[in-house]
Amino acid sequence: MVRETKYYDLLEVSPDASEADLKKAYRKKALRLHPDKGGDPELFKEVTHAYEVLSDPQKRSVYDARGEAGLSEAGGMGGMDPQDLFSQLFGGGGGGPFGFGGGRSQGPRKTKDLVHRVTVSLEDLYKGKVTKLALTRNVICGKCNGKGGKEGAVRPCGNCNGRGIRIMLRQMGPMIQQIQQACDECSGTGEIINAKDRCKECNGKKVNSEKKMLEVHIDKGMKGGQTITFRGESDQAPGVLPGDVVIVIEEKPHDRFKRRDTDLFISVEVDLLTALAGGQFAIKHLDERALVVKVHPGEVLKHNALKVIPGEGMPSQRHHEPGDLFIRVQVKFPDSMPLESIPFLEKALPPRNALEHFPKNVMLEEVEAVEADARQHELADAGEAMDEDEDGEGEPRMQCANQ
Ligand SMILES: [Zn+2]
Ligand SMILES: [Zn+2]
Repeated sequence: MVRETKYYDLLEVSPDASEADLKKAYRKKALRLHPDKGGDPELFKEVTHAYEVLSDPQKRSVYDARGEAGLSEAGGMGGMDPQDLFSQLFGGGGGGPFGFGGGRSQGPRKTKDLVHRVTVSLEDLYKGKVTKLALTRNVICGKCNGKGGKEGAVRPCGNCNGRGIRIMLRQMGPMIQQIQQACDECSGTGEIINAKDRCKECNGKKVNSEKKMLEVHIDKGMKGGQTITFRGESDQAPGVLPGDVVIVIEEKPHDRFKRRDTDLFISVEVDLLTALAGGQFAIKHLDERALVVKVHPGEVLKHNALKVIPGEGMPSQRHHEPGDLFIRVQVKFPDSMPLESIPFLEKALPPRNALEHFPKNVMLEEVEAVEADARQHELADAGEAMDEDEDGEGEPRMQCANQ
């Protein structure tokens, strides 16, 4: 037995109506009563409130047992915006009168975030840097305090009831589609200001554009894709919170170093004599240092060898703990060799490999190998790549069957 039936009556259902019944009844009534369809806003509000209570099992049980009075005692019943509930039920919504993004459920409304991409060199990410960024944003007009005109000059737009939007409902079979459009009378502002009463400073726009300098602190060790947020520094607009300015770091590719997290990779060319007989080579680092690497006499630096200098990578962002620097050695061979130096090489280097021994029926034929031209290089690269692919895939190779 329920104590009061007012809410059920508003929705024209019986007190034992199911949740589905309630929803169906509310849809029907809300469509008919919606202010945008010429319905009575007060009644729409009441019906919506009734549905809000009855569709919540907790609230419904309180209402059934103790009526409206019980609900106000229970507290926290500070009703929803009927439009919100309507939007939840029928979808649509989103985008307010000024095109502010996001749903209403995500806290207070804000203006759009301003997103700026900043390309940063690896040097600056290594050392850290403070950079200045100039941006133009809207700020509330100081002359009219964001009202757009003199006190009393601003009237709500009659065409859209000051909401700035018009909602069209369209029945498509069993579906009801809700379409929002900016009000054409007030250009979506919800307000009308007579031309002569408009603020001279902002021309009725309520905001003026302003140049602002932001100091962007690029921390040591930051990476591409990371963001720096300036809270509330985006456009200002009357009645809503300003969004954020978000700086997105983009790492500029370096011409010598490659980076993975805190590790750095570099390819270094070393001459043959240094590689064989020792010496040194230098690597200009990302700060004002050059690292001089010793190749000890007696140690042979092979082509493609990988060397590591611990602690000379990028600093980590938190504690600035550095990663490592990886060096891929490219041994540079001389283009030719003076004949008189050959005996010295023969003395210094391991002896030549002897010619392979072939069975007696194999004829030895002397040939000349010439330098490949550019086109032949391409052909060879393509051919070799194909071979690698085949090996990698482990595909069975076609064998020529000689008959
Ligand atoms: Zn309007
Ligand atoms: Zn103004």
